[in-house]
Amino acid sequence: MSVLPYPPLVEDAKFVVLSDWDGTITDKDSNDYMTDNLGMGYEARRALNKRVLEGSITYRDSFASMLDSVHEPFEKCKEYLRDNIGLDPGFQKFYDWCKANGIPVIIVSSGMAPTIRAVLSKVLPADADTIPVIANDVRFDDPSDPNSPWHIVYRHPESGFGHDKSKAILPYRDVKSKPTLFFCGDGVSDLSAAKHADVLFAKVMANGDSDLLEYCKRENIPNVPFKDFNLVLEKVKEVVEGKSVADVLKEAGN
Ligand SMILES: [Mg+2]
Repeated sequence: MSVLPYPPLVEDAKFVVLSDWDGTITDKDSNDYMTDNLGMGYEARRALNKRVLEGSITYRDSFASMLDSVHEPFEKCKEYLRDNIGLDPGFQKFYDWCKANGIPVIIVSSGMAPTIRAVLSKVLPADADTIPVIANDVRFDDPSDPNSPWHIVYRHPESGFGHDKSKAILPYRDVKSKPTLFFCGDGVSDLSAAKHADVLFAKVMANGDSDLLEYCKRENIPNVPFKDFNLVLEKVKEVVEGKSVADVLKEAGN
């Protein structure tokens, strides 16, 4: 059960793009950046990341600890991220093309919607308030005091992911005329959604790392690796212009 509402399903689209935010649409992971610079620091964060991969702690609990190590007021965190987080170099072009062609782009994130909207207000100002964002939220110890300690509110508190991203994509499989579904991601939090897309794009960092790509290889999930959204644009265009999903996947080495 989601404790937070979902934006309405887009019922009449032939193509729908769902994308992770941190490290996929953005040039770096905003929560890692905040944890490393305002919270527990890089070493402690990496140690927690390791424990998640080993399975000794859930993603949900490790992420909450990271955020709880940040003691700055929430407004200051928003400002800090707005000043320091940028877009993937191809995203603006990709987004503009999707918008011009009536293809919805939906952000699906394990982060918090208010920090995402804060960054969007700088990097995508015209659409910052209207682009659908399916994410977690924030609560304050004293709701009347924005400077009081704050904590993440998970969309799916019962899930080890905190936000089960598959629940954002699965309803599109039951729409009357099912759209072709594209999903873009890069990390552990994208695993639950990865296998439900028609075309899964797995982002690879400049140093070659990609937790999502590793997972896809292990689980035999077809995917299209990408370094930036220029390639996603090229491939989505091909499908929209009539190339089959099977051919696009085959050409990407699946
Ligand atoms: Mg990510």
